[in-house]
Amino acid sequence: MKIIKTISALNEWRDNQGVQTITLVPTMGALHEGHLKLVEDGLKKADICLLYIFLNPTQFAAGEDLESYPKTLDADLDKLKAAGAHAVWLPTQKDIYPNGLEITTKAGALAYPLEGEHRPHFFDGVTTVLERMFALSKPDFVMMGEKDFQQLQVVKQMVVDHNMPYKIFGVETIRDQNGLALSSRNLYLSKNEYIIAVQLNKILRDLAHSEINEEQAVEKLLRAGFDKIDYCTVRNSNSFLEEGCLDRVLAAAWIGSTRLIDNMQVKV
Ligand code: AMP
Repeated sequence: MKIIKTISALNEWRDNQGVQTITLVPTMGALHEGHLKLVEDGLKKADICLLYIFLNPTQFAAGEDLESYPKTLDADLDKLKAAGAHAVWLPTQKDIYPNGLEITTKAGALAYPLEGEHRPHFFDGVTTVLERMFALSKPDFVMMGEKDFQQLQVVKQMVVDHNMPYKIFGVETIRDQNGLALSSRNLYLSKNEYIIAVQLNKILRDLAHSEINEEQAVEKLLRAGFDKIDYCTVRNSNSFLEEGCLDRVLAAAWIGSTRLIDNMQVKV
């Protein structure tokens, strides 16, 4: 597995791939089975799989967990080698933001509800970094998790709106044995917090099956021990509004200082 540390090394590596198709897997590191599933599915789509690890400052607001975000580079590299990734790119902040931390690609309307209301800086940071990463690495395909479902849709919208030549694929959410969606931020959870966290998926499932309504879902989450619910709602998966076919349940909830998100399809 090639480890790429500079833009010139990336350019050289990219040129050497010739006509082979390339899948890019964007990540912020602290890799788990969810990330590895993106690599696995990426390898089915393309000849070559390139993954990058970059903790993107523009998608964090002041006071969020940019500084404390888990870093496990040695273990990440071992996992990627075992998963069969061909190359891993480790850009520096200067590589990606040579002129400072500026938003240069704004997210479209899909970014406004839900996550956009609670983390207004977030999606513009994501679209800015991805536009730059795509332009530098020139992938054919990009694998992204349904775990971050609104992000996936926002990025698909960006590619259409800007007529970018990349195909974005969503990959199912990988969960642990108790149904908790794998996330790098799960590393923040204490044993007791973990017991609370696993209720998120169960309550979302009840909401998706119409066994409870949104209000009851929020009550249940609070009773389970969540401290604050940003949203827990059933929305249209193409607009994130309460309109048309309500086919996706989505939630963001806090346990102490850890914010967890999850979502699932509603069978309609
Ligand atoms: P992150 O490192 O958290 O920015 O995530 C990098 C990519 O991995 C994103 O496209 C995520 O949606 C995806 N991802 C994160 N967790 C999971 C999971 N549990 N299952 C599938 N994909 C995931």
